[in-house]
Formats: sequence, C-alpha cells, structure tokens
Amino acid sequence: MYLSLSLPNQLFLTGLASLFLFFLSNPTIAEDSYAAKRTAMIQAIEADVRAGYGNLEKDDLDENIINALGKVPRHEFVPKGLQSSAYENRPLPIGHGQTISQPYIVAIMTNLLKVGKNDRVLEIGTGSGYQIAVLSELVKKAYSIEIIAPLGKQAKARLEQLGYENIELKIGDGYYGWEEHAPFDAIMVTAAASHIPPPLIKQLKPGGRMLIPVGSRFAIQELLLIEKSEHGEVSTRQLLPVAFVPLTGKH
Ligand code: SAM
Repeated sequence: MYLSLSLPNQLFLTGLASLFLFFLSNPTIAEDSYAAKRTAMIQAIEADVRAGYGNLEKDDLDENIINALGKVPRHEFVPKGLQSSAYENRPLPIGHGQTISQPYIVAIMTNLLKVGKNDRVLEIGTGSGYQIAVLSELVKKAYSIEIIAPLGKQAKARLEQLGYENIELKIGDGYYGWEEHAPFDAIMVTAAASHIPPPLIKQLKPGGRMLIPVGSRFAIQELLLIEKSEHGEVSTRQLLPVAFVPLTGKH
C-alpha cells in the first residue's frame, strides 16, 4: 500500500525522527534516563526488603550499598539489545547460558556480606562483572574468578573501560579460590555448588564471612552464610532459598 503524506506531516515526522536520533546520540540525555531507571530499581529493591523478602539481618539496606547500586551503570553490563531492561528487578541472560543476577539478590547478598572499606573480597563467578563492580565500590580491593574465558575477558574489558581500578580478575575454576591473594575478609560465590568448597573456607580470614548458594543444580538452592570466628571455628547458617546457575568445573 502506498501512503502519501502532506508536507506539514512529512516535516513533523522528519522532526520526530531527528529528535529520536538526537536523543540516542546524546550520551548525557541517555545517561539521565538510565539514572532515573536506576533510582526506580533501588526503590523496587527497598520495597522488597520492606516486604520482608530475603531475611535480612537488619531492617534496611545499608546506605553505602544503596549508594553503590546508584553508581554502577547496570546497563553497561548487559547485552546491547537488553539495555532498556537492565534496571528491571530480574535476572537477564548475558550469553554462554549464564545470567546477570537480579538486582534484589545482588543488593541483599552484598548487604549480608557486611564488607568494610578496608576489606579484600573474593567473588566466584564474575559473569558480567556487575556484582564485583558493586562490591568494589565498598571495599579496598575486589577479586573475581570466572570459568568461561570469553565472559571473563569481556568483563575485564568492560570494567577497565568504566575505570574500575581496584578490581582484579582471573579466568579459572573458582572452586579452588585464589591462594596467591588469600586470606580474604569476605567471599561471595554467585553460582550454586553441591557442597562448600574446602579451599574457600581455608582462604577465609578469621572473623570473615562467606555467602554461597548450595544445593542441586536442578532445584532451588539454599543461600548459606559461613562465618569463621577469630579462633578459626566455622559455623554455617541457612538464610533463604535462591536459584543460581551451577558452579561448574572438574572438582
Ligand atoms: N556475578 C555475576 C554478575 O554479576 O553478572 C553473575 C554470576 S552468574 C549467576 C554465575 C557465573 O559463575 C557464570 O558466569 C558462570 O560461568 C560462573 N561459574 C560457574 N562455575 C564457576 C567456577 N567453577 N569458577 C568460576 N566461575 C564459575
């Protein structure tokens, strides 16, 4: 079908198209719209926390964590075609059968880890690099290990481009931790293990905390909090049901 438009209509449509292109090509405007989405994401997370999801140890999210979530540009950590959904409170695919975790899970796991500004933290399962970017805003030095080489390389390039200087990444099997930089004040595992890896317990500092989802790869897992006392005793608590992709590797 042939559609003919009058001159004023043609001018109007051309104007609209130019406005759209201007919007897309102007990073400041685009960034402002992401900033608004980031604020809405934080409000959704806080509403979930108030509703009691996640069994937090205190009523609210730590203010430093809210600030970190407000700073990290989550849209830079998802595939281009999914950027408009980056701030929805749900996990998204990042390729290679893997996912970037739901913002709410990132928030409560970060809260439960109780890291401080002088801490050194290890994450197992870099994925997109988003969780380690959030952690790096709160600690002195952040380490992360990814087993899928292309994901690890992509995360490294992304984090460098975004200017994160206190993050070190490695490609390998995180089951064995990162002996060279151990011990760590805190360890977060973001893939589901069938058991707690003994090397990670060994690499946790006395007084340190570790979070790890444990359970079957085909079912809901339990998020466990492992605490090592100043005397080296290890205690384990079940916190909440979660659903993570499996921790793979030859271990
Ligand atoms: N933290 C990630 C983020 O912010 O995007 C999401 C993690 S995704 C749910 C789990 C990641 O763990 C995947 O990228 C997967 O390849 C990785 N993984 C699975 N087994 C691993 C292992 N043994 N060592 C290191 N990484 C592993």
